[in-house]
Amino acid sequence: MPAVQFTLRWPDGTVQRCCSPSTAIEQVLVEAASYPVAELLRRCRTGLEHASDRVREQRGVACSLAAEQLAAIEQKGRELGEEAGGVGGGAGGGGGAGEARVSVERLRRDRPRATHPAPDTLSGHTDVIVVGGGQAGLAVSYCLSEQSIAHLVLERNRIASTWRDHRWDTFCLVTPNWQCRMPGYPYMGDDPDGFMLRDEISEYVEGFAASFKSPLYEGVTVESVECSDGGFRVQTSHGELTADQVILAVGGYHVPAVPRLAAALSPQVAQLHSSTYPNPYSLPDGPVLVVGSGQSGAQIAEDLHVAGREVHLSVGSAPRVARFYRGRDCVAWLEDMGHYDMPIESHPEGLAARKEPNHYVTGRDGGHDIDLRAYARDGMRLHGRLIAVDESGLSFADDLAANLDAADATMERIKDAIDRHIEEHAIEAPTEPRYSPVWEPSAGEGERLAAPEGLSTIVWATGFRHDWSWVKVPAFDGSGYPTHHRGVTTVPGLYVLGLPWLHTWGSGRFAGIDRDARYVAERVAESRAVESRAAA
Ligand SMILES: Cc1cc2nc3c(=O)[nH]c(=O)nc-3n(C[C@H](O)[C@H](O)[C@H](O)COP(=O)(O)OP(=O)(O)OC[C@H]3O[C@@H](n4cnc5c(N)ncnc54)[C@H](O)[C@@H]3O)c2cc1C
Repeated sequence: MPAVQFTLRWPDGTVQRCCSPSTAIEQVLVEAASYPVAELLRRCRTGLEHASDRVREQRGVACSLAAEQLAAIEQKGRELGEEAGGVGGGAGGGGGAGEARVSVERLRRDRPRATHPAPDTLSGHTDVIVVGGGQAGLAVSYCLSEQSIAHLVLERNRIASTWRDHRWDTFCLVTPNWQCRMPGYPYMGDDPDGFMLRDEISEYVEGFAASFKSPLYEGVTVESVECSDGGFRVQTSHGELTADQVILAVGGYHVPAVPRLAAALSPQVAQLHSSTYPNPYSLPDGPVLVVGSGQSGAQIAEDLHVAGREVHLSVGSAPRVARFYRGRDCVAWLEDMGHYDMPIESHPEGLAARKEPNHYVTGRDGGHDIDLRAYARDGMRLHGRLIAVDESGLSFADDLAANLDAADATMERIKDAIDRHIEEHAIEAPTEPRYSPVWEPSAGEGERLAAPEGLSTIVWATGFRHDWSWVKVPAFDGSGYPTHHRGVTTVPGLYVLGLPWLHTWGSGRFAGIDRDARYVAERVAESRAVESRAAA
């Protein structure tokens, strides 16, 4: 049972470091959220008592650590005037601390022992260093191993840690399992058309790493990469290494992007980014606004809605796609149509496609459309784009109807293309009626939302920005994006992998990482061959 460390900042500024003997605390507290003191006490009591019960179930005795931790938190509450035992359950209920709030500054599971521990100190030269032990870093490690190229994979956390640590509890793949085709390790489970859950995904990636014994060190952060003597100097948390070639496989989602207007929000509204959202139960009571309707935002809004939370969703320009059409998953049709083989250069939007939000749809419960109009009909409150925040609340653009229409139009255009494909290839497929909107916004719908009165929490599903500042190599354009073709950068010996639309739609996903990793490994091998010929 992994323990969870959490840090509370009390209204008087004191910081309390706490520990729960089980992950039950994650059901009631969320990192970066803040709660009225009484609400915090109620949540800690629920979480720690539950943790103690879990220990009792496993070991037959109650957990003294949980009891002592709860006593320490309640003692702090008493110092602030809260009645430790008398908090009945309502947010902000009872007590002299009134609406003063406690922030959960950190909430992390103790990292289980690394299965690929690094030595205390790393030094010396390696032919190739791969930074990142996610699916991209491991895929290229497999391809380098095939070519007998000596290399090291350095991962700052654990294998597949972004899947494990930065996805919500009910997260599942949006792409069907059969698209998980790591090199030499296709999905072999019994549900190829299904959608793996969060923990199954990380187990799949771990299984892949074990299948070829990737030379990987976990818990090693690469702090900088610099050019040096015709190769690279790689500074890590465990010492300095040099390498002839470096492959950056650190994903495309580096730093949560939260709009600057967030700073103007009342401190009484809890704020968190989609990458730290765990589940509906850990958020403070009261209405929740999700900002952004891309894949994460639409799915998180659904997660909250089906849990019975009062949900507001700020709908942006993200398109959508149907889950199934004419008897098959749309992903299966698009695969047959060659859509996923189209290089970025052939995309109608060209390189700009790299910045487009993903189509929203879900794999939850076997997969279905996300029809925001249906959710609005059933009580979800939809708004247009968030444009301003002031002390009395939030303002939204008058573009809700247009954004819903545009998302539906994209979905219907994809169906048109599938129809054409079926016709051109004389495929037998059932017909089905097209989508007909089940709800329309009224004029001026949802243009204001009072806060903090009408809002307890905001989930920013507003994407990520790049941070390559630690790569001190002139391989980036004015916007900070790597200058590359298919992952081969303009600096000899430096490669990038796993970025969205690096080469095709599948580049930043399971679907295309095999092709991209093989391409980069071949370029690495070629350049090593050229260098060894030159040296001979
Ligand atoms: C919400 C969401 C849903 C997604 N759903 C799907 C889906 O359904 N299907 C699909 O195919 N794809 C999906 N993706 C896209 C993609 O598959 C994942 O983003 C995947 O994690 C990318 O793998 P990666 O190896 O490129 O990057 P990551 O998994 O992010 O791995 C990069 C690794 O690098 C490590 N690292 C970073 N910096 C350093 C450093 N300086 N030193 C050492 N290590 C470092 C990180 O700890 C991390 O483990 C989704 C992405 C998101 C954000």
